[in-house]
Amino acid sequence: MARRAPESDPAQDAPEVGAPQHAAAGIPAVVQSLRTAGAQMSARRTLATLRRVNQPDGFDCPGCAWPEPDRPHVAEFCENGAKAVAEEATERRIGREFFAAHPLSELAGRSGYWLGQQGRLTEPLLLDEGTDHYVPISWDRAFGIVAEELGALGSADEAAFYTSGRTGNEAAFVYQLLARRLGTNNLPDCSNMCHESSGSALVETLGVGKGSVRLKDLHQADLIIVAGQNPGTNHPRMLSALERAKRAGARIVSVNPLPEAGLERFKNPQTPRGLVGGGTRLNDLFLQIRLGGDLALFRALNLLLLEAEDENPGTVLDRDFIAEHCLGFEEWAEDARSTSWDAVLAATGLPERQIRELATLVLGSRRVIVCWAMGLTQHKHSVPTIREVVNFLLLRGNVGRPGAGVCPVRGHSNVQGDRTMGIFERPAEAFLDALGREFGFEPPRHHGYDTVDTIRAMRDGRVKVFFAMGGNFVAASPDTLATEAAMRRCRLTVHVSTKLNRSHVVTGVRALILPTLGRTDLDRTTKGRQFVTVEDSMGMVHASRGALRPPSAQLLSEVAIVCRLARRVLGPQDEVPWEDFAESYDAIRDRIARVVPGFEDFNERVRTPGGFALPHGPRDSRTFPTATGKANFTVNALTAPEVPPGRLLLQTLRSHDQYNTTVYGLDDRYRGIRDGRRVVLVNPDDARELGLDDGAYADLVSEWSDGVERRAAHFRVVHYPTARGCAAAYYPETNVLVPLDSTADTSNTPTSKSVVVRFEADSGQD
Ligand code: SF4
Repeated sequence: MARRAPESDPAQDAPEVGAPQHAAAGIPAVVQSLRTAGAQMSARRTLATLRRVNQPDGFDCPGCAWPEPDRPHVAEFCENGAKAVAEEATERRIGREFFAAHPLSELAGRSGYWLGQQGRLTEPLLLDEGTDHYVPISWDRAFGIVAEELGALGSADEAAFYTSGRTGNEAAFVYQLLARRLGTNNLPDCSNMCHESSGSALVETLGVGKGSVRLKDLHQADLIIVAGQNPGTNHPRMLSALERAKRAGARIVSVNPLPEAGLERFKNPQTPRGLVGGGTRLNDLFLQIRLGGDLALFRALNLLLLEAEDENPGTVLDRDFIAEHCLGFEEWAEDARSTSWDAVLAATGLPERQIRELATLVLGSRRVIVCWAMGLTQHKHSVPTIREVVNFLLLRGNVGRPGAGVCPVRGHSNVQGDRTMGIFERPAEAFLDALGREFGFEPPRHHGYDTVDTIRAMRDGRVKVFFAMGGNFVAASPDTLATEAAMRRCRLTVHVSTKLNRSHVVTGVRALILPTLGRTDLDRTTKGRQFVTVEDSMGMVHASRGALRPPSAQLLSEVAIVCRLARRVLGPQDEVPWEDFAESYDAIRDRIARVVPGFEDFNERVRTPGGFALPHGPRDSRTFPTATGKANFTVNALTAPEVPPGRLLLQTLRSHDQYNTTVYGLDDRYRGIRDGRRVVLVNPDDARELGLDDGAYADLVSEWSDGVERRAAHFRVVHYPTARGCAAAYYPETNVLVPLDSTADTSNTPTSKSVVVRFEADSGQD
């Protein structure tokens, strides 16, 4: 029985606001998981599906990239994992009748939430030039149209091939191969908008752009610093790892402009204490830092460690590690000693005593891990910030030993895997050499466009064909009006998707929707049942096997779509065995094993339950494949966002009922928000100074050097205990405020966590 989708969009976004909560998960999480699943599928299907999430013979949760423990729990998923699965395994369907009834002009006015709730796509669809309805089309015709438009381009660089982090390794590998055989490195991906700053900083300082810790390291740490991350909503199973570490004696420090329930207390629903007891208090210290103040914080911490070493030489710094494995310590130390406390206190908004309290915890801890997410990566100075975090860990040898290391927590289930498979606009020469050797061609060597550059290129008419493997590019990107206008300039926009979203209703002259299998779906070819592989945030590669009958017999897997398109576009003479790849993913994995380091004997090793860990030199053997062959200390000038008087610094963030741009519901339970998303959280003292009453409505206007007015209208002001000078509101609604050209140095990541805004009278439109 297909579950009915909501007919109407909520007429008016009318949020109700109650008190924020101080504990995450517990019985409410169980109830909400079942309620969400029940709205999308039958109880029988819910049970059959949820029992297979994150299990060795099951499928990988399409939510975040948190790793599985060696022995998964029977219910190895969190509330938001249940929501992500229910969204995909939904029994709701949309096909030609839906698109006949809903013209594009109407769909363009619908909320992202409503579009996403309509159900799974069931057949390929074309929006032809000058028409207002998507109509069904055959796969052959669809591939023909893509081949036509690609063939009409002056160069392959007039096309861009975007990837969202849900794409499996096998599809990502053949996708990058297709783009490169066409002659372009225009392979933007969602990582450009999230952890690109982490990759840039870690490659420079440690030589590997990924986290160096495994799950067991978290369980062994003495001190875990969680900075700029809200695991309670964005990586909820991380709370189980923090609880276990805490029970083993670890201290936990959260550094965040917002007091997040998931960092205060965890009611683990898989334990009696969590179900009926008070749960586990997590953070021992909460530093309510200003947005963008983390560089200053770690500079101050490092100064205090230096001073402690001066007082007791040889007792604080790991001199042997520094001497043997590091370069640049002396230059760094000289600069660090010039750190100004006034600048630190101004940038962090923290009292000096709290920073000294943290330093004391550090001095009492041998094994330290720093975890972070967007709160560190989406600022202009994010790369120097993460480099300073690395300086902090190098000082006491907290890289390359158990219980210690760097832990950037990835947001999308396979975003790290996609990058490992070659989804990168600036690929390493070694990767291109290996790819060229394996497939007998010379890959393009010139760098391509990342996400922001792709938008600029579409805006300027330099990219005419936009192809997206999953995701919701338009909603996820900054500067919404500019991005939408750029997208509309394309000759053709193509989206490989499971469900409807905003990017399907903001189209090029022509548009295609190509419906694909989800993680939960059975993927069977003439060679039998296929499985895909993914790489989690800690570098573990494992299999994912869907089992549900696909929503429609017309769906193709991501791999099949790429391989059939490749044959059509590249022609019968192209030597790559695209047909073999489409039928047997083992054939793809055999090629990956020869091209990508660490994947030797891929097919054999990935069949072991739990999969295998990719090598990580800094972690495994304290070998640092940097330009110097050593771990590099770096000098990072103390900087922080500047905010003119009468303005606030806004961060865009997720509600608890949201995963990236997918909105599961209109509540944000932990923050006390219900039935609405157009809210802005403002510190009560800031609000009083700005004349913003709690419950009043106002427009947000961002300020940027190009003088363009970027307005997000009709937001309910919520007096909320944010850090002074800092406000918060949900994306994608506030992505309109993030200027396209406001990006992080080096990584070009949009600065979605530091947007200068002013408040204006409510214009009433939303
Ligand atoms: S923690 Fe992340 S990967 Fe795990 S179940 Fe939750 S959303 Fe899915």
